[in-house]
Amino acid sequence: MNGLLLAIDQGTTSTRAIVFDTAGHIGGAAQQELKLHTPQNGWVEQDAEDIWRDTQAVCRAALAQSEASASEIIAIGITNQRETTIVWDRKTGQPVCKAIVWQDRRTADFCARLKEHEDTVRQKTGLLLDPYFSGTKIKWMLDNVSGAREKAQRGELAFGTVDSFLLWRLTGGKVHATDATNASRTLLFNIVTQDWDDDLLALFDVPRSMLPEVRDNSCLFGTTDILGAEIPVAGMAGDQQAALVGQACFVPGMVKSTYGTGCFALANIGPDFRVSKSGMLTTVGYRLGGKTTYVIEGAIFVAGAAVQWLRDGLGIIKSAEESEDLARSVADNGGVYMVPGFVGLGAPYWNPHARGALVGLTRGATSAHVVRAALEAQAYQTRDLLQAITDDAGYPINELRIDGGMVKNDWVCQFLADMTATPVLRPQVIETTALGAAYLAGLHAGVFSSLDDIQKNWHCAHRFAPAMKEPEREKLYAGWNHAVKQVLA
Ligand code: ADP
Repeated sequence: MNGLLLAIDQGTTSTRAIVFDTAGHIGGAAQQELKLHTPQNGWVEQDAEDIWRDTQAVCRAALAQSEASASEIIAIGITNQRETTIVWDRKTGQPVCKAIVWQDRRTADFCARLKEHEDTVRQKTGLLLDPYFSGTKIKWMLDNVSGAREKAQRGELAFGTVDSFLLWRLTGGKVHATDATNASRTLLFNIVTQDWDDDLLALFDVPRSMLPEVRDNSCLFGTTDILGAEIPVAGMAGDQQAALVGQACFVPGMVKSTYGTGCFALANIGPDFRVSKSGMLTTVGYRLGGKTTYVIEGAIFVAGAAVQWLRDGLGIIKSAEESEDLARSVADNGGVYMVPGFVGLGAPYWNPHARGALVGLTRGATSAHVVRAALEAQAYQTRDLLQAITDDAGYPINELRIDGGMVKNDWVCQFLADMTATPVLRPQVIETTALGAAYLAGLHAGVFSSLDDIQKNWHCAHRFAPAMKEPEREKLYAGWNHAVKQVLA
């Protein structure tokens, strides 16, 4: 089938649109940085109107760059930063306040007060009680925006994560819907029954009338005319789940890991829900034709952000790319380890109070050792996650599919393979998040007849085979574990 697919990739730091042909090649792309507001310590907000304005602008710019006309776009797919919460007035379409971004910690005390319910929450949602997810952010808005709770009780307000807000705007207020992956990050959606859960709605004090309808990831969500032709919106998924689809991880045991600002590893565990025993999350990977595939997810908060800190905080590199040559310039890490717990430690430690550390410094340590330690840390943390995934899933992990800005660094990829003793595969298209959204749209539009068809589009550009001898690998990993213990102490 000829024609093009348009992916909207609404991320935390920027909004992007990419036009793909049906073989997954990029025909046009545009990007707009997005402003973050931090009005108080621990608060992180964005303006939903900025998100909407930028989305329209990048869609038009990407289409112009592809030199195609709107009528050549077969379908649109949306992927987005997850958990970020927007509440708007159904009549006016106006948000009641700024969007509360996933990083926002303002509801930490409320989450702590609910701790006794964590087990129930985990059995229904696969998540932990943490301010990261949307549920407590909605409650905060209802409790703190003047008149909001009364309006919500009267059914006048709508809640959505960014996907649903964009869909509402794209369809001129006609459709209030989300998809199962985005719903699975709210703490309100029961991922076993695949419905909003009345017990959870009561716990978080959120009226059901505010919530969007939850649909499959690939279906007709609505149509939009913002580009001058009526185009179906036919795919939707949260960013990490879209990357899972873009990496074609459709078989239980397949794992993708994305190295951007942070790192997210998702492992397909198939159709059976299972609560993690190793501090990981269980979440919806994708839902197609009413059938849910679950994943185990682990997050490392600081990946590429550590490289940004070397550049902007320490000033020991001028660009992220420079980190590769510096890491190669020393024979080993010289005993230096960086635990990049700048904002606490994520899975499998979940310690919000931990802070970063550089350990093992001697007079022989140079800036190259520090840079190397920051890059090595990504591989140690990945090994921690893969170990937890293996314990949970009970599957051996045969390969790791990687993407994100950091994987342009060959040294990182090779060290990742060495430290995890797992082949690491870098695909031809590393824009896997946007590609996944395009695939989901294309699946509904008939561009692809099945997941097998999508799998055939996935091509490995580089395979990094593990080359390190076991004693060296274990010695290095023991050094990492020792450093983490010092941080946790
Ligand atoms: P996000 O989508 O989270 O904004 P990207 O996937 O665009 O992130 O990746 C950007 C991150 O990758 C930055 O934090 C940057 O420091 C890091 N990065 C980019 N190039 C390299 C490189 N060659 N080596 C190491 N890190 C890199």
